[in-house]
Amino acid sequence: MANILIIDDSVMSRNKLKKILDSSDHTVVGEAQDGVEGLAKFKKLSPDLVTLDVTMPNMDGLQCLREILAEKSDAKVVMITALGKGDTMLEALDAGAADYITKPFEDANVLGVIAGALEQG
Ligand SMILES: [Mg+2]
Repeated sequence: MANILIIDDSVMSRNKLKKILDSSDHTVVGEAQDGVEGLAKFKKLSPDLVTLDVTMPNMDGLQCLREILAEKSDAKVVMITALGKGDTMLEALDAGAADYITKPFEDANVLGVIAGALEQG
């Protein structure tokens, strides 16, 4: 059970993720529509875990990931991306992301990846 911040520029993606998370033990404590807003909400809300879209205006997911980890080195961040972005995901994992989820979302996969990320030290 975790407090989760959703950062994604797509309303549809945010709503779908929120619906999956609301159906679980987790609580969505905030939503942000780009990296700048996401970083501000991360600082303000101190969530247990962040879901972070890669492609967003203003500040993209990779930059936001680095800013979040600079703020809190053990922050748990799960990247969100479309299929076929393997290189970007490797870069994100290398930068310190806990794991990643590919769209379209499947409930079991989303909750499984988040559970795994929460179990990481
Ligand atoms: Mg996006």
